[in-house]
Amino acid sequence: MTASPYIGRFAPTPSGHLHFGSLVAALASYLDARANHGRWLMRMEDLDPPREEPGAQAAILHALESYGFEWDGELVRQSDRHDAYAKVLNDLFNHGLAYACTCSRKQLEPYHGIYPGLCRNAGHEQHDAAIRLRVPELEYHFTDRVQGEFRQHLGREVGDFIIRRRDGLYAYQLAVVLDDAWQGVTDIVRGADLLDSTPRQLYLQELLGLRQPRYLHVPLIVQPDGNKLGKSYRSPPLTTDQATPLLLRALRALGQQPGDELLHASPRELLDWGIAHWDAQLIPRTLTLAEAQLR
Ligand code: GLU
Ligand code: ZN
Repeated sequence: MTASPYIGRFAPTPSGHLHFGSLVAALASYLDARANHGRWLMRMEDLDPPREEPGAQAAILHALESYGFEWDGELVRQSDRHDAYAKVLNDLFNHGLAYACTCSRKQLEPYHGIYPGLCRNAGHEQHDAAIRLRVPELEYHFTDRVQGEFRQHLGREVGDFIIRRRDGLYAYQLAVVLDDAWQGVTDIVRGADLLDSTPRQLYLQELLGLRQPRYLHVPLIVQPDGNKLGKSYRSPPLTTDQATPLLLRALRALGQQPGDELLHASPRELLDWGIAHWDAQLIPRTLTLAEAQLR
């Protein structure tokens, strides 16, 4: 695909166990990295301790290992990166690119998630306030390797967005951009639920002078009712005894075509087959896939 060395990553959030949708995303990023002779890094996105499920970090890593995944280098935890986030946040604030917002949830209710800029010029102090990044009145766009051209007008469709919450927790958008750059990630492969976060991340990269990675968003696995798999809907954890059938199903979800001779293969054999036969062009070009149709 390219001459520059490939660095990919998987970045789970420990708010619960991994489910089939997470397996599809992990598998796609792993196979794409290995098929390109790249490195594959692991980052625990533990930015939100109140929402973290006790034991989830260990359970996620154990599940990945029992499914045959091997990552390069040491696990990075976002909880160890607060100093780096703080430095950038203060720079943005001191340059007037970000500002403090004291609006209450109730005050913002009428605006349907698009911040109307109420505190833009208020000059609030950082203390006891959320910090928002000013967005330009511009459309950002990129070409996703699976989803194709994606565009979003930051001013009209997103508004000034939070980079640190009022309770002091750093926002995903800021942390993900800083960490991907710090870890040298060249290729981001993740679920399509993050497609509409990407323009915000492109803007942050531009602002901070960071290199833009390539993006590949795999279809999000959903319930028949269209809801994302996860906590709200009972989706079983990835158990070790199901590794072979679930990896086969995940390969098929990604459009790959493992034959019947692999029905009793070990997880490691399936991953090796997946690397040798990986064709990202076969990934369905849709935002969602219903889990029920994948059996
Ligand atoms: N931590 C995010 C999640 O679990 C993924 C972030 C990313 O891949 O950019 O949904
Ligand atoms: Zn405000």
